[in-house]
Amino acid sequence: MIQKKPVMSKTKSSESVKVVVRCRPLNRKEESNGPAGGIVQMDLRLGQVILRNPRASASEPQKTFTFDAVYDANSKQRDLYDESVRPLIDSVLAGFNGTIFAYGQTGTGKTYTMQGAWLDPEKRGVIPNAFDHIFTHISRSQSDKQYLVRASYLEIYLEEVRDLLDPNHGNARALELRENPESGVYVRDLTSCVCKSIKEIEEVMNVGNQARAVGATDMNEHSSRSHALFLITVECSQPGPDGRKHIRVGRLNLVDLAGSERQAKTGVQGERLKEAAKINLSLSALGNVISALADGRSSHVPYRDSKLTRLLQDSLGGNAKTVMVATLGPAPQHYDETLTTLRYANRAKNIQNQPRVNEDPKDALLREFQLEIARLRAQLNHRKWRSKQKKEQVDGEGWEGDGDEETEGEEEEVEKEAEEYVKLQEQRLEREKQDIREDQFMLAEEKQRLLGEKERMMGDLRKEQEATEQLTAKYKAMESKLLVGGKNIIDLTNEQQKMLEMKRHEIAEQTRREREIQQQMLVQDDETVELRETFTSLQQEVEAKTKKLKKLYAKLQCIKAEIQDVNDEHVRSRQELEQTQNELTRELKFKYLIIENFIPPEEKNKIMNRLTFDPEEDQWKFQPLVPAESKSSQMKKRPSSAVGYKRPISQYARVAIAMGAHSRYRAENIMFLELDMTPPNTATLDCSIKSERTQIPSLDNTPTKDRGVCKSRSWCQTPKSITSSSSNVSLAACHTATPMTAQ
Ligand code: ADP
Ligand code: MG
Repeated sequence: MIQKKPVMSKTKSSESVKVVVRCRPLNRKEESNGPAGGIVQMDLRLGQVILRNPRASASEPQKTFTFDAVYDANSKQRDLYDESVRPLIDSVLAGFNGTIFAYGQTGTGKTYTMQGAWLDPEKRGVIPNAFDHIFTHISRSQSDKQYLVRASYLEIYLEEVRDLLDPNHGNARALELRENPESGVYVRDLTSCVCKSIKEIEEVMNVGNQARAVGATDMNEHSSRSHALFLITVECSQPGPDGRKHIRVGRLNLVDLAGSERQAKTGVQGERLKEAAKINLSLSALGNVISALADGRSSHVPYRDSKLTRLLQDSLGGNAKTVMVATLGPAPQHYDETLTTLRYANRAKNIQNQPRVNEDPKDALLREFQLEIARLRAQLNHRKWRSKQKKEQVDGEGWEGDGDEETEGEEEEVEKEAEEYVKLQEQRLEREKQDIREDQFMLAEEKQRLLGEKERMMGDLRKEQEATEQLTAKYKAMESKLLVGGKNIIDLTNEQQKMLEMKRHEIAEQTRREREIQQQMLVQDDETVELRETFTSLQQEVEAKTKKLKKLYAKLQCIKAEIQDVNDEHVRSRQELEQTQNELTRELKFKYLIIENFIPPEEKNKIMNRLTFDPEEDQWKFQPLVPAESKSSQMKKRPSSAVGYKRPISQYARVAIAMGAHSRYRAENIMFLELDMTPPNTATLDCSIKSERTQIPSLDNTPTKDRGVCKSRSWCQTPKSITSSSSNVSLAACHTATPMTAQ
């Protein structure tokens, strides 16, 4: 019986991550190193990479990997874009989430592929081409579509998310990640800039790149250790068949990852060890996420292990279309790294995503903009309509109409009439003032009063006009941020160029399809070769079978070598992990030694009891001593019954004190009594002193014979030092307290 597997990947909406590989040319230094040449060969037609091991004998089979597309040293930026990126950006413009990330060893062309040389049109990378694409699309779309484009730029360095568009980037706090069921994981308080043209979005990119370079002492070193994410959100509103405007939101992540080479973690200690452990944490977590997803069997995907994987959660196995560009160098000395990159990329091919169009999400900014614009417009219309009405009253005409429902032409007319009305009013007031001045029969006082009145009316009129102007400016500024299809941006390309562009896209599409068919054929060939063959003689059959056997044997050897390689790699990474673990254990022992010998156990316990782990920030935190909500109400005001007393006191006790009747009610006096040192009493006193000790550790080192004094002090002094110390009591503070107690 054949059992059907309930495979998610077979559902219609699922598609796999597209993986393309690019190899850069040999650079000058590598060329001068020797005649060895490159170790990477590419079959562009089949989308295959063939890797030669420079240390192996010639007889050893070469390693072959197949991808969605491969780009060799002669490949053009434009080709990579048209074939592999353009379809993704088209999807983003249709409301899908999209991600492109470049992965590879430092110096293999990640930044070249993502950004390229901006000034040379031939060498512009994925990001500038995507800018062109997005804004050209908007300029060519129909005028019933409205767009809002926003951009953000951030980097992840040593597991901290930093906003590159924040003006005080250098000393800004690291940002936090948050999750929202609708839009997924996002960065809280991240700056996002509304962009109205290619120029504006390029400016945003420049500002971010500068912030990146300024923060780093060595840009190369920095970029090989940090991940840069450029985020573009395109919101598009279009009237649907139901007559209402629907909003689609496409989010595009353009990611330039840190260099994938192994960072040496061994032999470092303390802060440097922590740093080294963090440098590639995101990258190794990314590897683990890819493995877990590609494996398909593991139920747990460790997205939460790093900031990068959390941010890319949707792009890997979630609601997004993803393209991965793996970059290689052709030099023989980097064989191991190149092989690791290819393996990584090969694994990523198996990840299945479930992209869907983001329709009418609640947090669409475009909707907010539209509402605000409509509100401003209504306000403005109302003002204009009011002045128009007034004018008509002056002119003696009737007015019947509704201010809110006007076409654009009418609106302009209203605007003109309103302006005219203001002008007329001004002229009228001037005239009246003149009349008053010239009136010889009027008293000087009366004249002054009337003139003042007219002056005030004029002032009001001006104020009104100013307010209208301000409102208009605000309205226009708001409206200019929304891009209307085919209106705000003028497309300057002529028909011929457009045709050329279209042809180029068609060719790219064609190439892609051809490659897919070729790959399918290859797979089928292997399977059906046997079925097609009929043998005329035994001899022929033997020959054919021998050939097949040889082929299969070669395959077997390849797979064996592969297994050996993977094993070696596992052993290596296990050794590295063990070494890191040993160093961490040593560090831990060192800390334990200090704690056990120099921090009193009760102090340690108190600190331990107050510590809680915050998984969001991946840090231990101190709980405040006083719960946050009671802090404000507590200890601010003494209850009214206790005014003038150490503690609240009952009416009965008050009367009793006044009468001096019973010693029980002479509470205040107890402080000044000499202590009774007879044995039974000492026992109870000891107890109370002990409990005080735990409250005020550093104050309470008075010798026991002065207990009486000590006691009175404890009455008067609230343990201020402890209540005021909030969540960040440091170990250093404990250290300073230690010598006193240890003596
Ligand atoms: P990465 O960002 O991966 O560290 P870069 O993009 O900075 O690497 O590339 C390193 C160098 O190689 C740069 O000088 C770049 O111009 C060059 N380079 C990379 N890829 C190519 C390519 N496909 N064609 C020509 N030059 C390239
Ligand atoms: Mg780089």
